[in-house]
Amino acid sequence: MSTLLLRTLRDDPADAEVASHRLLVRAGYIRRAAPGGFSWLPLGWLVYRNVERIVREEMDAAGFQEVHFPALLPKEPYEATGRWTEYGDNLFRLQDRRGADFLLAPTHEEMFTLLVKDVCGSYKDLPLSIYQIQTKYRDEARPRAGLLRGREFVMKDSYSFDLDDDGLQASYDAHRAAYVSLFDRLGLPYVIVSAMSGAMGGSASEEFLAPMDVGEDTFVRCTSCDYAANVEAVETPAPDPIPLDGLRPAVVHDTPETPTIATLVDFVNARPATRRPDRDWTAADTLKNVLVNLRYPDGSVEPLAIGLPGDREIDMKRLEAQVAPAVPEPFGDEDFTARPQLAKGYIGPGSLGSGGATGIRYVVDPRVVDGTAWITGADSPGHHVIDLVAGRDFTADGTIEAAEVRAGDTCPQCGEQVEIARGIEIGHIFQLGRKYAEALDLTVQDQHGKPVVPTMGSYGVGVTRCLAAIAEASHDDLGLCWPREIAPADVHVVVAGKDGGPQRPAAEELAAGLEAAGLRVLLDDRSGVSPGVRFKDAELIGVPTIAVAGRGVADEDRPTIEVKDRRTGDRIDVPVAEAVDHLVAVCRP
Ligand code: ATP
Ligand code: MG
Repeated sequence: MSTLLLRTLRDDPADAEVASHRLLVRAGYIRRAAPGGFSWLPLGWLVYRNVERIVREEMDAAGFQEVHFPALLPKEPYEATGRWTEYGDNLFRLQDRRGADFLLAPTHEEMFTLLVKDVCGSYKDLPLSIYQIQTKYRDEARPRAGLLRGREFVMKDSYSFDLDDDGLQASYDAHRAAYVSLFDRLGLPYVIVSAMSGAMGGSASEEFLAPMDVGEDTFVRCTSCDYAANVEAVETPAPDPIPLDGLRPAVVHDTPETPTIATLVDFVNARPATRRPDRDWTAADTLKNVLVNLRYPDGSVEPLAIGLPGDREIDMKRLEAQVAPAVPEPFGDEDFTARPQLAKGYIGPGSLGSGGATGIRYVVDPRVVDGTAWITGADSPGHHVIDLVAGRDFTADGTIEAAEVRAGDTCPQCGEQVEIARGIEIGHIFQLGRKYAEALDLTVQDQHGKPVVPTMGSYGVGVTRCLAAIAEASHDDLGLCWPREIAPADVHVVVAGKDGGPQRPAAEELAAGLEAAGLRVLLDDRSGVSPGVRFKDAELIGVPTIAVAGRGVADEDRPTIEVKDRRTGDRIDVPVAEAVDHLVAVCRP
C-alpha cells in the first residue's frame, strides 16, 4: 500500500446519501467525476472486474455469446424503432462535426437486431442468445446514491432471437436460470417480481430486486402465496359487478365547504338527508377525480382525468408506467381557467369522458365496477352527488392502474393480504416479441424458404449497480465487508509495529508466502502511519481476512500472526511458521 493509489477518508462525503456510496468513496474505491459519473481507483477497479468476471462467467456458462458494440451510435436505427423520440429527456443526444445526429446508447436492442439481420439469414442460425458488458448512458432525472443510479453505468445486456413463442419462452427461461445462479454467486439477496415492460413494449417481464430499503422500487408480495410484483405491475382485483336493479337513485346535495374528502365524509355522515341507511360513509365511498396533463414525446399535450376511491392517492410511478411513453404533468390553474365547465374541488363524471361536458378522457380505478355507488362531485361549486352508480349514471372511457397499493390490499393471486417492501432493481428480463425485428426488417428464412420475423427477448443486469448493492448488503459500522469472490484481495496484511521493528519483515515474508501460494494480498507497508490508522483502514477497505504482524511476532518462544475475520471479528493467533497454510485454508476452503 505504500505505492498504491489510495486515499481513505475519515469523514463521509457530503453528497453521499447511502452506505455504499459513502463507504466506496471513503475506502478509496471510487471518486465522483461528474453528476452520476465516477472514476475508479485501483482497489475499486479490482472489485469492479471481479463482479464483471462473475457476470461474464455465468453468461458464458449458459451458452450465451459475448459481442461488443459502440456506445456512440447514429440516430437512424433508434428513429426506425421510435425510441429516438420515445426515450425523451433520458437520452443523451449529440451531433458530429457535420451536424449528423448521434446518441449515447441507453440500451442496445436496435444494434443487436441489426447485427443479427446482417449476419444471420436462416432458421438454422437460431436460437441465438448474445450479450455484451458495456457502458450505458441515461440522462436520469435524479442521478443519486452513487453507483446505484448513475448517468454513465455498466450494464450487461443480452438479447435472444427465436423463431416462435415456444423458443422465446425457452430462451427466457434460460436467462432466468442464469440470473438465479449469477445473483446467488454474487451473494445478493433477491426477489423475482412481475414487472411492466415500460417503454420497451412487449409482454412477459420480471425483475430481480434486492430487497433493501435504499432501493427505489417498491414491490408487493403476498403474505400467504408466492405472488410478488413490482408495484407498477400490480393488478387490482376488480370486484364483481353489482346488479343495477333496486339501487338508490343518484341525488345532488348542497354540500358547502367540503373541498376535501375528510370534510365531505364528515358532512354527509352528520346529516339525516345525506346519511347512508346501512352504515357510515367512508372515504372509500367517495370517487375523487384527478386531472393531469400527459405530455407525449412529440411535444403534444392531452389532459386525462382519473377517477379513484377517495381514500387512495395516485401513485405517480404506477401512473407513469401506465401512460409511458407520455409523461404526466400537473394540471395547472390556467388549464382550469381554459375549461370553465370544471368546478375545481367538485369535479364529477358529468364533466368528464367522451360523453361529458369537457370531453376529457376519463379512466377509473378497477374498483369502479358497474353497480358501485359513489359520492362524487356534481360539477358545481359546493355540490356533490350521492349514489352516482357506475354503469347506470356514468360510464368511463376505460380503467387505469394508478391508485396507490397498500399493505393489507387483496392479493390478486390468492385473495389474502399483500405486504409492501422496497428493493434495488439489479436485473430485468422480458419478452420483447417482434417489435424491434419488425421495425428494423429482420427476417430469416424458415424450412420452406419463406421469410419469418424472429421474436426477441431482452435481459439486463446492472453491473455497477450490483457492485453497490453488494456493498449495501455487506458492510457494518466500521466499513465494507466484501464476499471473498468480490473482494479486492483475499488477505489484508497489516504491519502493526514501530518502523524498524521485526513486524515489517515478518509481514513482508508472510505476504510473499501468501502470494506464492496463489492468494491475492494487500500489504499495508506504509511507513509513518500508526497501527490504529492501519487497523481502521483495514476495516474500512473490507478485505475478508486481516492478518496482523504485531506484538506476537516478537514472541521468542512462539512467534505468532493474528488472523482476524473481517465480518465476524473473530481473531486467533497462528504460529508464524503455519500462517501461510492456515490462511490458504481460510481463503480456499
Ligand atoms: P430503473 O427502473 O432503476 O431506472 P430500468 O428499468 O430503466 O431501471 P433497464 O432498462 O431494465 O433499467 O436496465 C437493465 C438494468 O440496468 C436494470 O435492471 C438496472 O440494474 C440497471 N440500471 C438501469 N438504470 C441504471 C442506472 N441509472 N444506474 C445504474 N444501473 C442502472
Ligand atoms: Mg427495468
